[in-house]
Amino acid sequence: MNEHDPTIDAAFLGPMAENAGLLEEWMVQAVRDYAYWRRNLHPEDKAVMGAAREFDLEYLKVKADTEDALRRLAARMKRSVPWFSPRHMGHMASDLLMPALVGRVLGTLYNPNNVSTDAAGAAVEMELEVGMDLARMFGFSTADQTAMPWGHLTSGGSVANYEALRSMEALRLYPLALVAGMRDAGLAPEHTEMTDVLGELTSWRLINVCVDDVMPLHAMAMQIALNNGGGDAVATLHKAVENQRIEAIGSVEFFRRHNVAQPVLLAPVSAHYSWAKGAKLVGLGTHQIVHIDVDERMRMDAQSLRENLERLLANKTPVLAAISVYGTTEFGTLDPVHAVVKAREEFAERGLAFGVHVDAAWGGYLVSVFRDADDSLCSPELMSERFRYFPSSEVYEATRALNQVDSITVDPHKLGFIPYPAGALVFRNREWARLQAQAAPYVFDDQTQAISDTPLALEDLGRYVLEGSKPGSSAISVAVAHDVFPLNCDGFGKIIAQTIRASEVFHDKFLAFTDEIRDVATVVMPFEPDTNIVCIALNPAGNGDLDTANRFTRNVFDSMRFSADEPAQLRDFIGSFTSFDQSRMTNEVARRFERELQLDAGTLERHPEAHVFVLRHTLMNPWLLRPINDHGKDYIDMYFEFLATQIQMQSSVCLTSTELQQ
Ligand SMILES: *Cc1c(COP(=O)(O)O)cnc(C)c1O
Repeated sequence: MNEHDPTIDAAFLGPMAENAGLLEEWMVQAVRDYAYWRRNLHPEDKAVMGAAREFDLEYLKVKADTEDALRRLAARMKRSVPWFSPRHMGHMASDLLMPALVGRVLGTLYNPNNVSTDAAGAAVEMELEVGMDLARMFGFSTADQTAMPWGHLTSGGSVANYEALRSMEALRLYPLALVAGMRDAGLAPEHTEMTDVLGELTSWRLINVCVDDVMPLHAMAMQIALNNGGGDAVATLHKAVENQRIEAIGSVEFFRRHNVAQPVLLAPVSAHYSWAKGAKLVGLGTHQIVHIDVDERMRMDAQSLRENLERLLANKTPVLAAISVYGTTEFGTLDPVHAVVKAREEFAERGLAFGVHVDAAWGGYLVSVFRDADDSLCSPELMSERFRYFPSSEVYEATRALNQVDSITVDPHKLGFIPYPAGALVFRNREWARLQAQAAPYVFDDQTQAISDTPLALEDLGRYVLEGSKPGSSAISVAVAHDVFPLNCDGFGKIIAQTIRASEVFHDKFLAFTDEIRDVATVVMPFEPDTNIVCIALNPAGNGDLDTANRFTRNVFDSMRFSADEPAQLRDFIGSFTSFDQSRMTNEVARRFERELQLDAGTLERHPEAHVFVLRHTLMNPWLLRPINDHGKDYIDMYFEFLATQIQMQSSVCLTSTELQQ
């Protein structure tokens, strides 16, 4: 347990730009090497610019203007958020991995467009490699050639979530289109082995085909066509199926034709707001999201999930997918993915199937601490030697279950320490991509190739993903970072481990802090953190009123609020906040929380709109545990001293104003 892991010293530029020399050297090398690449393309060509330009007034003017603009730009950029600083504990960004930073700049020089290899060259290959790095980190099997995972980059977690939703819809609704297409093509599915596999071919049965059975069913239908009328019949069937898909006829017509209710999406109340945006985007509608309660640890409540599934099964409402969050945006908590996977198996047997997507935009890279260099999962014993509290058995089980889910969103630009933009979406089975292909995915030149063994052309990324033109420099940036820091406990995991240790130290120092400040304010963690995001609620001593507590916390927060209109130097620390809404707590949680925070009993229950304003800390900076003064204090000590001062100041302001009122 090394609190000062030297790995991170070479990984980042550092709060004082300690590694500026290295960064400069690598940047200069990248630029020089790039210049030679230009020159060596056709070295026989003469230079197009002559020496006389140096004396041309127009030339000199543009040069001076550019220098001036760049100087003003550099000045303007000083209004940026100082992500790199250990004094910034607010949002989900921190120092950047130097290889990723240089990779991004180097990549940008070549300007690859990862829409396809034709526009990118090597960068698409890197993107697919990065996808496989992530797939292996999550434990997806790469042994089965017929069900290989794949992943690609997006602009961020939001777009990855939209795409996951679109893919889930394509996959889950495909069997309905397939069977309808068979009927249209005159293949009478009722009289084929389709019925041996599925039983009756009702809409309810077809909308409840398990994710893993969809592509085999497709293959079976194509084989039936082939046996029936050869390649022409396959082509006819393919066309008929395409004409029955929701992607062709739209959702209104699709659900009318099949006389089946529109499916719902299950997501915990703690899910990111991109799911609401996604539901709007795919035409599902936000009312089709069924919100699952969270438990007292701010994790999806498995019991509530089951109750909802029971109800939906009883009403015959189809379920598109269940979303679980691996690292909630606000609280860093991890849903019980293992319980969701278990419910999927149980309900599938009872005739209600659903897909499972994990939104690990924040927490995905945490898995690198669990992954051994040989790609197996580190044992719980080994994990407990490395950390004090982490991981709880629930967290361990959730992590272990990740390889059984269908798709995962993960953001390299969050806990991957990669510059924006870099999100990613990973699928357990690349065969599903066939259903996304924008152009016809099957080539019918050769009859024997007509069934789904036509090779996928994933390198034509733009055919399969939501985005079109997309930055190859993202892929390069992530690829070089993964190259230096492989996604296991000996590589990237060391950086993540550092953030977890910092969170554990933060937790322990917090306990001491609550004691010290007891006379001035009640300070509580609303729930034990699962990872490296920690929330703190405040209430001035003796106060029972929620509004007063919230006002007090807001005032404390004002001292650490980042503003683009003030120099960042004015802030000793920069934090973030979130609001803990009554609507997202069970009554039990609300009552416990009231008691711990010493609010008047029933405060939260009485006001359905009530929320508790809490300070939110993202503890991902690599340097939080470094001593920064002669007394050996680290940034976390300094932060609690700062917080104590702010609390004391606010409580004296509070006192004065009540005295004035009297
Ligand atoms: C941040 C986040 C998102 C959105 O990702 P962006 O990269 O900001 O688009 C989605 N889900 C979760 C859980 C997140 O933390």
